[in-house]
Amino acid sequence: MIDYIIVASIGTVLLAALITLLILLIIYITRYSKVKREHELTKQDYIKLSDRYMELEQDYQSSLASLNDLALRYDELNKSRESMKKLAYSDYLTELPNRTAFTEMLDNIMLTIRNEEIIALMDIDIDDFKDINDSLGHAYGDELLLDITHRLKQVLDENDYLARIGGDEFIILTQNLENTYSYDEKIQKVKDVFNQPFVLLAKEYYISVSIGVAFAPKDGKNSQTLIKNVDAAMYMAKANGKNTHAYYDASFHQKLTEKIELQFELRRALEQNELVLYYQPQLDLATLKIVGFEALIRWKHPTKGLMYPDDFVWVAEENGLIIPIGRWVIKTACHQLKEWSKQYPDLIMAINLSAKQFKDKNLLEMICEIIEETQINPKNLEFEITETVALEDIEYTDATIRQLNKIGVRFSLDDFGTGYSSMSYLKKLPISNLKIDKSFLDAGMVDVSDQKIIQAIISLARNLNLNVIAEGVETVDQEAFLKESDCDKVQGYLYSKPVPTDEAILLLKNRQDK
Ligand code: C2E
Ligand code: CA
Ligand code: CA
Repeated sequence: MIDYIIVASIGTVLLAALITLLILLIIYITRYSKVKREHELTKQDYIKLSDRYMELEQDYQSSLASLNDLALRYDELNKSRESMKKLAYSDYLTELPNRTAFTEMLDNIMLTIRNEEIIALMDIDIDDFKDINDSLGHAYGDELLLDITHRLKQVLDENDYLARIGGDEFIILTQNLENTYSYDEKIQKVKDVFNQPFVLLAKEYYISVSIGVAFAPKDGKNSQTLIKNVDAAMYMAKANGKNTHAYYDASFHQKLTEKIELQFELRRALEQNELVLYYQPQLDLATLKIVGFEALIRWKHPTKGLMYPDDFVWVAEENGLIIPIGRWVIKTACHQLKEWSKQYPDLIMAINLSAKQFKDKNLLEMICEIIEETQINPKNLEFEITETVALEDIEYTDATIRQLNKIGVRFSLDDFGTGYSSMSYLKKLPISNLKIDKSFLDAGMVDVSDQKIIQAIISLARNLNLNVIAEGVETVDQEAFLKESDCDKVQGYLYSKPVPTDEAILLLKNRQDK
């Protein structure tokens, strides 16, 4: 019995233990599978996470690349902004500040200008720049602009600011001036820049400029007015025959209006036969006989009366009307010469040619046509050009004169002594006569050294086989001096003023037929 109880107890214990074990096993299995499940989940997450990490890494790399790209582009943008600014503010050719930069600069100065301060503006415009561009091409036009820039820079000091405000237009702004008079020196310095020829294509060119000057605050309180007024002053310098300077004055606008009116009326004048020629005799100094006439234009204006060339020829020159007017002059003078030559076959007709006329490409053809039409002897025809015109393009001058020389037409150098007066070119030019300017003769009457210069010019002309005509002879003293100096011909009020045709005929009769 006891054994049975023992065995039964052991069995129960064993069963209990077995059951406990079983329970523990179930618990373990359940736990294990949970943990395993959980572990499997984490692994997937890990894979996912690392995938995500890779993606992020890629994103990061590409962001970095685009950041670099962006920085590069930003740099480029900055650079192009800089160069755009440079483009907007500086002139591409000369690298000088341009009109925009200049205007901004002047704006700023005018905002802060002190009471006692004076500012000067000098507008420098190249005369007939278009002709250079047209004849030599733009590349040489550019070269000339660079040469001019270089020379202008040499005359600047620390108070000056140079800008290029137009194709052939420069401006100098000068600050801290004490008075307006002291500025004359600067103007002279700028003018001197153009005394030396410019070398283009191995040829020498004399370039002239027209200069307008305005002062602030006197001539304008803001940049707009000042720029307008200095421009008007420059325009006035052009109107005064170029190669000069003019100060702004308030009556400019009035003068401009008058000029526009004049241009309009001049166009009509040619059509309505309001233009006439007057003739001034040229005399042989030894015999005091008339050897020729200089044809000088006049305008019988319907309301203003008889007008002189100084009052209208420049307008015609500026707007190109000088070409048809010039043709009319040559034609009329040649017809007159033909008429007079019937009785006076050796009589000379001298005709003035302006710069534009001389440079006109149809000049030769036109002159030949008129000679043909009027049947005059070309040997009796003379053209007068000034030194300035002759020297502008010496090779062209030389070639043109030579062509006309071939058919017998001769040339005189007008107003000698007022231009460059360089003796060296005289022997190169195929001219026949030298006309000593009146102003030279006037000075010679008061100053002995001027008399010596006139005599030197005459003997130089002799050596070069040129005839000398003295113009503007008004007194017997002048006549005596010229005789003593061995001058060939004379022209001036002492003998006769320029007169209309009928009076010229009388002069011829009285002097020649005696
Ligand atoms: P220029 O060729 O130097 O002509 C001489 C000027 O001096 C003329 O003025 C004449 O009247 C003036 N004169 C002559 N003798 C004396 C004198 O003894 N005393 C004074 N005080 N003056 C004297 P004008 O006729 O008024 O002509 C002025 C300028 O106009 C001329 O200067 C010439 O450059 C230009 N001109 C005249 N006619 C023509 C023309 O048909 N065509 C062109 N292109 N220009 C012309
Ligand atoms: Ca003349
Ligand atoms: Ca003259």
